[in-house]
Amino acid sequence: MSRLRRITSRGKRRKLIETRAIQRLRASVRRLKGSERLQQALFAIANMAASELDVQSLLKGLHGIIAQLMYAENFYIALYDPQRQTVRFIYFADVMDGELYKPDQEFTAEQLNNTITLALIRHGQPKRGASREVARDLGLGGQAVGTPSVDFMGVPMRHDGQILGVLTVQSYETGRGYSQTDQNVLAFVAEHVLNAVERKLGQEALEHRVADRTRELATVNARLQEQVRERERAAHLQTTLYRIAALGHSPGGSKTFYRSIHQAVGELLNADNFYIVLVSEDRQRLDFPYYVDEAGAKLETRPWGLGMSEYAIRGGQTVLMNKAGISRLIAQGEVDAVTYGQESVCWLGAPLLGSQGVMGMVVVQSYRENLYYTSQDADLLTFVSYQIANTLQRRQQDEALQVLNAQLEQRVLDRTLELRQQITVREQAQQQLRHQVMHDPLTGLPNRLYLRERLERALNARQSGGCFALLYLDVDRFKLFNDGLGHLVGDAVLREVAARMAECVRPPDIVGRLSGDEFAILLENCPQPSTACQVAQRIQARMAQAVLIDGRALHVSVSIGIAMSHEGYQAVDQVLHDADTALYRAKAAGRQRYVLFDEKLHASAVNVLDLEQQMRTALEAGQFVPFFQPIVRLADAGITGYEALIRWQHPERGLLGPADFLPAAEATGLIEAIDWHLYRLACQAARGIVGDQQVLNINISPHHFHSRNFPQRLLDMLSQTGIATHQLCIEVTEGTLLSDPDAAGRILGDLHEAGIRIALDDFGTGYSSLSHVHRFPLKTLKIDRSFIDPLGRGQQQRSSAIVSAVLSLAKSLDLDVVAEGVETTVQRDTLLAMGCKQAQGFLFGRPAPAGTWPPS
Ligand code: C2E
Ligand code: CA
Ligand code: CA
Repeated sequence: MSRLRRITSRGKRRKLIETRAIQRLRASVRRLKGSERLQQALFAIANMAASELDVQSLLKGLHGIIAQLMYAENFYIALYDPQRQTVRFIYFADVMDGELYKPDQEFTAEQLNNTITLALIRHGQPKRGASREVARDLGLGGQAVGTPSVDFMGVPMRHDGQILGVLTVQSYETGRGYSQTDQNVLAFVAEHVLNAVERKLGQEALEHRVADRTRELATVNARLQEQVRERERAAHLQTTLYRIAALGHSPGGSKTFYRSIHQAVGELLNADNFYIVLVSEDRQRLDFPYYVDEAGAKLETRPWGLGMSEYAIRGGQTVLMNKAGISRLIAQGEVDAVTYGQESVCWLGAPLLGSQGVMGMVVVQSYRENLYYTSQDADLLTFVSYQIANTLQRRQQDEALQVLNAQLEQRVLDRTLELRQQITVREQAQQQLRHQVMHDPLTGLPNRLYLRERLERALNARQSGGCFALLYLDVDRFKLFNDGLGHLVGDAVLREVAARMAECVRPPDIVGRLSGDEFAILLENCPQPSTACQVAQRIQARMAQAVLIDGRALHVSVSIGIAMSHEGYQAVDQVLHDADTALYRAKAAGRQRYVLFDEKLHASAVNVLDLEQQMRTALEAGQFVPFFQPIVRLADAGITGYEALIRWQHPERGLLGPADFLPAAEATGLIEAIDWHLYRLACQAARGIVGDQQVLNINISPHHFHSRNFPQRLLDMLSQTGIATHQLCIEVTEGTLLSDPDAAGRILGDLHEAGIRIALDDFGTGYSSLSHVHRFPLKTLKIDRSFIDPLGRGQQQRSSAIVSAVLSLAKSLDLDVVAEGVETTVQRDTLLAMGCKQAQGFLFGRPAPAGTWPPS
């Protein structure tokens, strides 16, 4: 081989190598350029996907980007939904097939059965070539859909290995052709397109959903609002109706009621023209108690005629009528045009139905062309009309009732006045009558009836602590005046006596004339017998003055019996009886004196008769015996004497004390015999126990003082029984002394002279105690047990004051003092400390038979 050839062939080879290198470089530059463009395209795609663009704009942008990479005039994107097996051509640009597919249209696999798109999706691999060949490759027989293209290229879009669509470009002109590189580029882009599209679509779907949901919610909201409005309307309607119903009970006159009804109705429907009409009772007239009219018309009443109201009332039903209807009524003669008057566009009236039929109507009307009432309005007004009618009826009933009440009240008032006048007249007559009935015509004093009444009241007042005294008075020897000097003088004497008695008392005490010459004085609030005695003394003093009648001086005196109130009294008669008994005794004692009824009498007064018989028997049977109770010196308890106390050895009832029978014995006078019996026994027994320096005390009943020879009888008995007079002490009570002080003075004087000691028993319980004591020749005071009892019991203040007073009085009068009823050492010590020398009581010895005591 020649060098030149060698050189030439070497040169040719080098050139070839260079050319290849250049080609390689160019290819790599192209590649570089291609990948640069590709990269830019991808950036652009990513940018667009992130932008605000809507899907179509995005796809349009994508189309533009792909067109920069290859020929892509005809380009579409189909998205496949594997679950639903449907296809949507979300982007479709084709010069031949125009807008074959709408982006929102969804195609089923069946509809696309014969298309390259579906076949390609199912095939799953990119395809390139003439569309017919591709179709054939993909096993599509017959006619494929769409215009056949010269060059076709389709790449499926995948996501996680699943095919979710296809991207195609095609050309209808020859010479364009798609290379493998184009295919790679498109496949590469496809993935990103799917991303971007899906993102956008998702976003858009979300937006759609949000918009849909918003729309849905708005609809729901609107519906709810409508419901709320409906409810509100219903609630308002209901409250309004309730309000109307409640108006019936509200206070205020009818005008206020109608106004409120009008206001309430106005809230339900147009009530610019509103009235209430009532048929008069005689059904001759219509009254309009409430009438409001925007035209200013006024109506109060009119005769029954042919108006709309009358028409509706006749029908008794709700009437809703417009102008035409009313004209028809006028034409039919049902309504008279003149009476009807105003021409309303619409007239709505509902009847007010009462128990007696239609009472009237409630009416609304409209004069405005565009204001008509509906049947709903008619229903409402009908409802309201029931309420109004109810209320009206109730109000009418109330009013009727009120009127009735007022009438009744007036009648009661009139009648009361009449009665009061009658009562006044009757009362006056009664008072007169009462005065006549209750008073004695001669003296003008209250009579027996009146006195009994007052006494009755005084008896009842005892429960609240009231105590009274009843004085029974009798004019001494009145018969002499009456018979000797004539009735006129007798009457004059009685009048004078009455007047003088009246002078001696003050209200509320009253003087009454019981009968003839008998009078009574009721001293109310008179707890102390002494007060009653003082009044008695006052009266007797007042009577001491001569009575001048017809120039003649008459000497008048009265005897008085006194009964003090006590719990034992049950009836007026008991009081009168006791006072009478005392009066009797006063008279028996020699007139012109007063006697206080002894309470002890009362206690057994009931079975006095029974007892009397028993006592007589007991006396004969020797059942009355003396017990002896020692009287001691307080200083050394030495016995200074004994008090004889009577006991009844009752064969059935056992040993009885004086309380059981003495009152009866006193009342019957049997006491004298019993006493004498007892005195004798006591004296006989005393011989054995009463020493020469000791004393026997016996109790003297007041009865003995009536007999003038009592002292002599006693002295005789002493000598018979062998008791010295200085050994005997008689115990008398203040009552005994004061019932007839003169007689008592004489008797006691005799006994005193004979050397018999006299003790005042139960001292302190009497009435005039201290003032009378000095009148009698007393030797001893026996302080009553009631003053000794409280001593040493913490309540002794008053008692000890009295005991002290008695002790000092006794000292000044040189009297002995014996304290009765000493039961405790405290009492004994207290008495000792007060200077009391002698005492008697259970502490030293109880009453007991003579044999109990030491012999003298
Ligand atoms: P009087 O003359 O005040 O007699 C004292 C009464 O006090 C007696 O009641 C006597 O038993 C009671 N007595 C003595 N010490 C105490 C004492 O420490 N505590 C208490 N609680 N009582 C004591 P008696 O024997 O029931 O006699 C009641 C009254 O009957 C006598 O009160 C007297 O007024 C009258 N009486 C008694 N015997 C006769 C009598 O032969 N003839 C008459 N006419 N009256 C008599
Ligand atoms: Ca006594
Ligand atoms: Ca006594």
